[in-house]
Formats: sequence, C-alpha cells, structure tokens
Amino acid sequence: MPLLTGDDYRQSLRDGRQVWISGEKVEDVTTHPALKGMVDAVARIYDMHHDPLYADLMTFELPEGGRGARIYQIPTTREELSKRRLITAAILGDICPTMDRFGDETVTPLFVLANRKPLLDKYDPRYAQAATSWLHRLQRENLFLTSGNTDPKGDRSLHPYEQHDLDMNTRVVKETDAGIVIRGAKFETGAPYGHIAFIKPTVGAWVEENRDYAISCILPLNAPGVRHLCRAPLSRHGAEFDAFDQPLGARFDELDTLIVMDDVFIPWENVLFSRQPELAALLRSEFSRWSAQAYLARCQAKADLLVGAALLAAEQAGTIKLPPVRSRISQLMVFKATIDAYLLGAEAACETTEAGFIMPNQAIQNAGRVYCSMNYSPMVNLLRDIAGGTPVMLPDRAMLESPETAPDIEKYFRVGNHSAETRLRTLALLNDLTASPYAGRAQAYQMFAETPVHAQEAALFATFDRESAIARARAVAGLEAA
Ligand SMILES: Cc1cc2nc3c(=O)[nH]c(=O)nc-3n(C[C@H](O)[C@H](O)[C@H](O)COP(=O)(O)OP(=O)(O)OC[C@H]3O[C@@H](n4cnc5c(N)ncnc54)[C@H](O)[C@@H]3O)c2cc1C
Repeated sequence: MPLLTGDDYRQSLRDGRQVWISGEKVEDVTTHPALKGMVDAVARIYDMHHDPLYADLMTFELPEGGRGARIYQIPTTREELSKRRLITAAILGDICPTMDRFGDETVTPLFVLANRKPLLDKYDPRYAQAATSWLHRLQRENLFLTSGNTDPKGDRSLHPYEQHDLDMNTRVVKETDAGIVIRGAKFETGAPYGHIAFIKPTVGAWVEENRDYAISCILPLNAPGVRHLCRAPLSRHGAEFDAFDQPLGARFDELDTLIVMDDVFIPWENVLFSRQPELAALLRSEFSRWSAQAYLARCQAKADLLVGAALLAAEQAGTIKLPPVRSRISQLMVFKATIDAYLLGAEAACETTEAGFIMPNQAIQNAGRVYCSMNYSPMVNLLRDIAGGTPVMLPDRAMLESPETAPDIEKYFRVGNHSAETRLRTLALLNDLTASPYAGRAQAYQMFAETPVHAQEAALFATFDRESAIARARAVAGLEAA
C-alpha cells in the first residue's frame, strides 16, 4: 500500500471519533475552524512524503518492497540519525518553525522498548513483539501518532494507588486472554487529528503498589470509549484568526486535549506492557534517548525565528545601530548558536545502544534539553525588550484598511521607507511570539511538554560521565595518594 497522501489523511479522520470543543460535538475535525489549520498542516507533511524535493529524505525502501516513512525507522548509523534531524528541519522549514507535534518525537519511546527486547522478553514475549510490529506498521502506513503520558494526577503528594479517585492516573481495570481494559485520562497535544495515541506511564515513583498504573499501549483515537475533550481554542469560539494580525495563531492551533478512556479494550497486540512497574521505570528513565533530538531541532528553528524577528524589528525601528540593542540581539544569537552546538554535538558524539542502534550523545543532549526548557522564556523576554511596547499596542488590519483610520495609521506607523503595513505585519509577528495567547502557550509548551525540568535534570545526572569528573577532581585534590 503506498504511503498516505494529504487527502487520504483527511479522509481517514472521518472515522466516528468523539471530539468536543467548547461544549459542542465536532462533526468533522477536518473542517472545524479550530482544527482545520492543523489538519491542513499535517496533510502537507503527508504530501511532502510524495514531493520529489523531500521524498528521498523522508522515505526509505522497505525490506518487503515499496517506500516506508523514515521517521519511524530506528537509526543504525550516524547518517540515519542525522536524517531524523533533517526531516524535522524540513517540516519546520516547509510548514512553520513553531509547529510542535508530529510523529518524529512521539514514536521514539517505541525505539526504547525495541532496544530493550531481551529485558521485555523476560516479562512477556508479546511486549517486544508488539513494539516491533507497531514500528513496522507505522513505517508502512505512516499513521499520525500522538503522545499520552500526562494524567490528570489528582493530588500530587499521593501515589496513583492512594488517590481518592483511583482513575486520576490511567490504569488497567481488567486483564483477559484477549487483552486489557483501561480507564483514566491523558493530556495529549494533537489527538483530535491523530490516528493513534502512544499511552505511557507519567513521571513518577514506580513502586510495586502502582502496578495497575504501570501500562503502555497503542490506542486508536476513534476506539469505543475514547472521548476527546479539547482545551478552549486560542481563537475565541474557534473562529479563524486573521493572518495579518496573528501570523502564527492564524496558521494553526495545536489543540491540547484531555483524552478520556472509559473502559477501553486494548487487544494484546497493542499492549506494550501491562502491570510492570519495572518497565514503567525503565521507559521513563530512557524516555528521551531519541525524542530530545526532535525537541532540540524544534528549539533551533524557534530560536532562529526569534533572532530573525528581532533583526527585522530593530532594522525597521532604526534601533539596529544602537550598541545596547545589538548587544541584546547578540545575546539571542548566543542562545541560537548554543542550541545548534547541543544538537550537532550530540549527533557528532553519538552512542551505540545495547541492541546496536545509534542514538545522540545522551549527556550532551540532556544538557541541551534542560538548557532549552529553561531558556525559551528568557529568549522571548529579550525579544520583548528589543521590540519595546509597540507589539502590544497595535491596531489591526481593519484599522489599516478603513478609509477613516487609514491615514492616521499610515502616518504614525510608517518609519522611513518601511510602510505602515510592513511595520504592522512585523510587529504582529512579535506580538504572536511574545504577548498573544499563542505566545503564552508556546512558552508553557517549551517549559513542560518535554517533561518538567526536574525530570530532565535527573536524566542529565544519570547520563553524565560522573566517574571521569570525580577521578579528575580526586587527582587534582591529591586524594589518590591519601
Ligand atoms: C502546551 C503543552 C502541551 C503538552 N502536550 C503534552 C502531550 O502531548 N502529551 C503529554 O503526555 N503531556 C503533554 N503535556 C503535559 C506535560 O507533560 C506536563 O505539563 C508536565 O509533565 C508537567 O506535569 P503537570 O502539568 O501535571 O505539572 P505538575 O506535575 O502539577 O507540576 C507542577 C510543578 O510542580 C513541580 N513538581 C511536580 N512534581 C514534582 C516532583 N516530584 N519533584 C519536583 N518538582 C515537582 C513541577 O516541576 C512543576 O514545576 C503538555 C503540556 C503543555 C503545557
């Protein structure tokens, strides 16, 4: 079967899924104003797989013949690892540098499970078999995969098994010869326009008493018992934004959704593990082995956009020659170049896994992840500083076009050769990067969507070569002789 096209993808979403936005049931997710922008963006990714410009990069020859989606292939060489980065960069370049969720990142915990086959086999041979057969299916069918890790959780001071309502974290309520039945909910970006969700345990202490919560499986997003409760769209009531006034928000809204799973049956072939706290802990500890590469590639594109917006705004306002403004723009450039260094350095010093796969250097990549999660808001703040207050005091396109207001807008927003329209468009971009609801969500995404910073720091601590650092310090302190 050839890989899906954009139109095939749109058609595949008309599958009876249960989606609600602002209290109303969505009849067709491909045409709803709050979802259409993202459906069109994802459809473009599908079409890119058939576009001669990208097809060689984005697809590969399947062993059984035909082309498969390369992003779902585990890298076995450094070149294949680099291609993952290049695919992410190509999508961000072609569609929009602020796009966050597509399958490049969300598939990678399946790589982690496939890599640990001997360990999984000790628990149940069906687990690794499910992981590898899902990877093959994803390569063949290029399904859009979302990520369900984060539960509502309830009281954070209590374990899942101690909660007053036991469904605050997703759990197995029944196990049969045919499969498992799960109940609970997960927060997921993009679920209303995804095909399947990869359900996994959240960050936590995976003690034996949490056994019923230690599950991972593949969930079709139209399965009976699945309900999508979308967050409020950024654009009020899902009405479309004007691309002049919200150049980013008007493109798409990556709707974050609470997926409710009301006693959903999962057949064994979709179960990656069930009631295995040790495997939950393993998956969490190795979770970002490959996913953080895609995260850093996104951060790189976003940082580049912030630098570009700063240069444009300063050039138009005539502040570009002022040393303090150049200094702030240079600081933004430091952020961008540092992200480049983390991304490329982790690739250059790549590591071989237990099963012989190739993954980015873990300590470098984990340090980059912490750096990016902590520094997106400071980067945005620098841009805000460079731009001054005008981005939050802007008239909209209608004011520029109204015969009564246009002359004043033309007069007071023009600077030299830069027309009022040029300036308003640029300042609107700055508003969408620093001040709008779109900008606010983007900052929260950067801080949390790659797991909270404390979990990233723990991953860095675990993967950093501490022995070598301690040995160096011992030698310098003269402790070896003591
Ligand atoms: C825009 C956006 C998109 C997202 N998309 C997805 C998605 O697609 N899939 C998905 O699964 N999740 C997604 N998330 C959820 C994200 O993974 C969580 O927000 C994140 O894991 C933090 O969990 P929480 O929001 O429940 O915060 P909480 O767990 O309530 O944490 C709140 C604060 O307390 C701190 N804290 C909590 N527990 C501890 C602890 N034990 N030690 C130290 N500090 C602690 C946290 O660091 C944080 O500062 C998304 C989040 C955002 C903002």
